[in-house]
Amino acid sequence: MGDAAIEVKGLAKAYGPVRAVAGVDLRIDEGEIFALLGPNGAGKTTTVEILEGFTMRDAGEVRVLGHDPATNLPGVKARIGIVAQETAADPFLTVEEMARMIAGTYPKPRPVDEVIELVGLGEKRRTRAGRLSGGQQRRLDVALALVGDPDLLFLDEPTTGFDPDARLEAWAMVRNLRTLGKTVLLTTHYMDEAQQLADRVAVIAGGRIIAEGTPDTLGNRAAAASRIRFRRPEGAALPDEIAARAVDAAPGIVLLQADDPVPLLNRLTGWAMEQGVALDGLEVVRPSLEETYLELIARDGAARAGGAS
Ligand code: ATP
Repeated sequence: MGDAAIEVKGLAKAYGPVRAVAGVDLRIDEGEIFALLGPNGAGKTTTVEILEGFTMRDAGEVRVLGHDPATNLPGVKARIGIVAQETAADPFLTVEEMARMIAGTYPKPRPVDEVIELVGLGEKRRTRAGRLSGGQQRRLDVALALVGDPDLLFLDEPTTGFDPDARLEAWAMVRNLRTLGKTVLLTTHYMDEAQQLADRVAVIAGGRIIAEGTPDTLGNRAAAASRIRFRRPEGAALPDEIAARAVDAAPGIVLLQADDPVPLLNRLTGWAMEQGVALDGLEVVRPSLEETYLELIARDGAARAGGAS
């Protein structure tokens, strides 16, 4: 395990009767891309704003790059970059002017030209921020967060409202940050984004972390049953052992579940080859991160409803 970029223990924050954060423990290593997932109102923004030093906590321990933001905000601020949901750019300044202005506020900025290239805005350096597309504005925001050469970046829903192309480009840009050795704390509602980018994810609900792991192992996902699905072949009865395992699915679709799909697939495809039967639409899938996430949230909601009654 590397050094911790972020360490949080027993973090709590209430707004009147609302326990926005109710005992969060978190450790993010230097160089990790970490995604915080959770439904609206789960406590993500409150947690992140405490780490950034915008919000004071009620209880718990917090270390951001070794400093407590509540007592040493300048120490934290000098080494973090923040990309909030609203753009930080002045619409009347060009990309380059804006980046130079922000660079001027840091003691050791990264070279402005390099940062503009890094976010893929080289051809737009003389364009006013207000004339950039939504995706390009987001890139400019990342450039402005990077220009102070921070060690840790907070990205709040970095691709909301992007078209699929812009999203892919933004993902490539975040991966670029990894090669620079930056630590990234990302909040997102897109599970494919977390799957693509994050080394680790945590799911927060009701102010607590209810699951944590890599995108592939979250909520025991790696061990979850695989599903084999194909269109029911016409004019050929499935072998008994396969027919017996088929569970209800859409009409004309055969669905099988198996902890280890290999023997079942072997039997199925062997039979199809022998009989000359096509297995149209054959697919083998494990639950997606999205399904796992929704299941975790539903289970947590049911447990809390049960506890409250
Ligand atoms: P979203 O995905 O919608 O951005 P979130 O996970 O970021 O949600 P938070 O913004 O941290 O959630 O909110 C957690 C809870 O705290 C919510 O119930 C919210 O209404 C409440 N809350 C947040 N900020 C304040 C505030 N300044 N005053 C009162 N209540 C607040």
